Amino acid sequence: MKCFYCKGDTVETKTKFIVDLGECVVIVKGVPGRVCQQCGEVSYSNDVSAQLERIVNAVKNSIMSEVAIIDYEKGVA
Ligand SMILES: [Zn+2]
Repeated sequence: MKCFYCKGDTVETKTKFIVDLGECVVIVKGVPGRVCQQCGEVSYSNDVSAQLERIVNAVKNSIMSEVAIIDYEKGVA
């Protein structure tokens, strides 16, 4: 798979996905993605994007702290 931005080569990696919801920052650890070796841009597969969306929505509906740290593999209970 080539980088969407610069067409550089990408390699599989585990990344952190961070989203700021205003009241709360969500950090998802161990997200499987692909990082571009040329520009460092990270991209996710459709499945991973959908799962990240589910996690963020679940956190939005149950904000308990200012920072939520979630393990991608475990997801949201
Ligand atoms: Zn790139």
